[in-house]
Amino acid sequence: METTLVILKPDAIQKRLAGVILQRFEAEGFRIRGGKFTLLSEAILREHYQHLVNFPFFPEILTFMRSSPVLALALEGPNAVARIRDLVGPTDSTKAPKGTIRGDMGEDKMRNLVHASDSIENAAVELNRFFGPGEVLP
Ligand code: ADP
Repeated sequence: METTLVILKPDAIQKRLAGVILQRFEAEGFRIRGGKFTLLSEAILREHYQHLVNFPFFPEILTFMRSSPVLALALEGPNAVARIRDLVGPTDSTKAPKGTIRGDMGEDKMRNLVHASDSIENAAVELNRFFGPGEVLP
């Protein structure tokens, strides 16, 4: 059993796709163990996307990720980290296969609807980044 961090990004909220995206995860058997609707600070985004801060497109990512609140979720299930990454699909929505969330509903490389932790280690770090003590059910 694993718990991973999923963020429904501003494009998912603005396009009213939060429900259909969450349905895909629930239909695969994942359970919500934590949830938070929040406008992310620049500081938390710099930390979360520290591997991208030096790229020229980083300011655009900051603007996009702060264009509305996001829905941060802790989702639990067997092999959750890898299975949820598979359901989400690769970063570039235009290249993501049909049947994945990004391939079916995403717009481009940046507006790709969902963040999902990419390893068990990062899931633990990221859950701690977005949720405080007691905010994710054990
Ligand atoms: P992923 O979200 O698939 O794990 P990354 O960690 O590489 O991908 O990037 C984090 C997020 O930054 C992406 O989901 C996307 O929103 C944005 N991003 C990444 N690369 C680019 C790019 N070349 N141009 C615009 N936005 C990008």
